[in-house]
Amino acid sequence: MKIGILSRNPKLYSTSRLVEAAKARGHEVKVVDILKCYMNITANKPTVYYKPRDTRELLDFDAVIPRIGASVTAYGTAVLRQFEVGGVYSVNESIAISRSRDKLRAHQLLARKGVGMPITGYAHAANATEDLIEFVGGAPIVVKIMESTHGNGVVLAETKKAAESLINAFRGLDANFLVQEFIKEAGGADIRCFVVGDKVVAAMKRQAQEGEFRSNLHMGGSATLVKLKPAERALAVRAAKTIGLDVAGVDIIRSAHGPLVLEVNSSPGLKGIETYTTIDVADKIISYIEKDSQKGPNKMKGK
Ligand code: ADP
Ligand code: GLU
Repeated sequence: MKIGILSRNPKLYSTSRLVEAAKARGHEVKVVDILKCYMNITANKPTVYYKPRDTRELLDFDAVIPRIGASVTAYGTAVLRQFEVGGVYSVNESIAISRSRDKLRAHQLLARKGVGMPITGYAHAANATEDLIEFVGGAPIVVKIMESTHGNGVVLAETKKAAESLINAFRGLDANFLVQEFIKEAGGADIRCFVVGDKVVAAMKRQAQEGEFRSNLHMGGSATLVKLKPAERALAVRAAKTIGLDVAGVDIIRSAHGPLVLEVNSSPGLKGIETYTTIDVADKIISYIEKDSQKGPNKMKGK
């Protein structure tokens, strides 16, 4: 197949591993910077052009692998949609990527399908501090800025007073935020489940460092191998399916009332998961594409 990887940087670990795996399986592969793609959206034969330097190329892939960074979601998904309407297979469709990038929309979809999550309240600078704290069962609570990544905008408020000050501060900053029940019994750990198709192909447990509840590797967390329970596998796959993603990084947390989904990532990194588990995740993604693309493009998965 002719496979295009839509990524801003061919040197990234995930991108270069996907290139390697595609070549190893006998495919032709090219990395294209999505911001250097352009298109005539009114053309009756939808096509995507690419101009990394002076010469224009027409991209004629059989399949694309989107690795669209959060900061270029809008333009990236527009280019991806152009591939899709042009009949090109995409592992992770534009609609599913858009859903996963909008945390509120993703949580609403997951809730509607009965996928367990920590109890969560949302507000945009609304004058409802007390209600929000009450929704989630009172302090301690977790407050998260919607645009947060790598655990940066995720804060624990241990008391009602602290929770009120925190929420009022976020309101003052005109921020979008969510308020969540604190899953204390998780003991600062969560599990990254790497989903490809209808399987969890690799998983690792991330443990926060001493005195920290956020397990992000960027926050000094450490990873270990973990054996998933069947209910955890099923939950991760169902979360990815609900959003409509073929490839997803589903973060789950172990609570006293079973596993809960924290987040569904549409461009999960390969570096941590491949390093800790020694599983060739890139190969699993390419082999999934070989099979799934046989079913034809434009599946419009999830709802
Ligand atoms: P980000 O997307 O910025 O990584 P997350 O929502 O994944 O934000 O939160 C970061 C980390 O904080 C998680 O990996 C988890 O370890 C911890 N965490 C998040 N939400 C909760 C919660 N409700 N209860 C307990 N720990 C949590
Ligand atoms: N960017 C990483 C991912 O989505 C998260 C790494 C972390 O845990 O801090 O796979």
